[in-house]
Amino acid sequence: MYAILPDILFVLIALFCVTSIAIFATTIYLHRALAHHSIEIISEEFERLLNRAILITTGLNRGEWVAIHRKHHTFTDKEDDPHSPLVLGFWKVQLFNVYYYIRAARTFGIVKTFAPDISSRWGDSTALRGFRGLTIGIAILIVAGVVFSFSQGYSVRYGVFPGALVAILYGMFLGLLVAAVHAVLYVFVLSPSINGLCHWRGVKRFPDTPAFNNRLFGWLVAGEGLHNNHHKYPRSPKFSIFRGDFDPAWPVIKLLAKAKFIVIIGEVGVPEAVAYP
Ligand SMILES: [Zn+2]
Ligand SMILES: [Zn+2]
Repeated sequence: MYAILPDILFVLIALFCVTSIAIFATTIYLHRALAHHSIEIISEEFERLLNRAILITTGLNRGEWVAIHRKHHTFTDKEDDPHSPLVLGFWKVQLFNVYYYIRAARTFGIVKTFAPDISSRWGDSTALRGFRGLTIGIAILIVAGVVFSFSQGYSVRYGVFPGALVAILYGMFLGLLVAAVHAVLYVFVLSPSINGLCHWRGVKRFPDTPAFNNRLFGWLVAGEGLHNNHHKYPRSPKFSIFRGDFDPAWPVIKLLAKAKFIVIIGEVGVPEAVAYP
């Protein structure tokens, strides 16, 4: 009678929020704005917000991410590609993408060579860097779990003291569960599928361009599944090109541009011009 929301619904809603923030911040901020400069974030506050969002939902360092990604575009599916399934094998990239990412990040001088324009900022180098950022993210989830758990009325059901203890412990469990499922999804399912699956199987709309389009997967990763389109037009801020393609990040980008948080710079990709004899 006290429960306002089934626990599983809390876990699913929290998971959806955290993973969506991570995916959209990755594609809009790290990928389209910083790595390819197809959009520019003109609001300093919004830029800071995106930087924090990346740190607390992924723990990634933006300079390293940009450098590794640009190296991937420079040597796509060749020996120096940091994570090519054609070079390393599909399952190696699909399962151990995180290992190849860390290995690439440790390559001497990679940031200086491929991302000299991405300066190290306060958020990157001190208080919020990497694991500290992640710790803050996990702490936020635990607090949300505890608050939710209290709202379920344990302290009334089991008496104030034991009830409070149950609520705290159970809330911590719920928060950690969300953090763990999010980490598995982001690190072992979603990111590896862009680097692995999208360079392995799918639809090739541009035959002479590396990678493939996986439309359904694209819905899950804010358009990143349209990877053949992206390799054809790396500087396009919009990943959907053909009828039936949908890039969920594009309406968000247009909205952000309208609100003057960002400006769109890159030219939108078009279907290849058909050469008539
Ligand atoms: Zn690629
Ligand atoms: Zn790219």
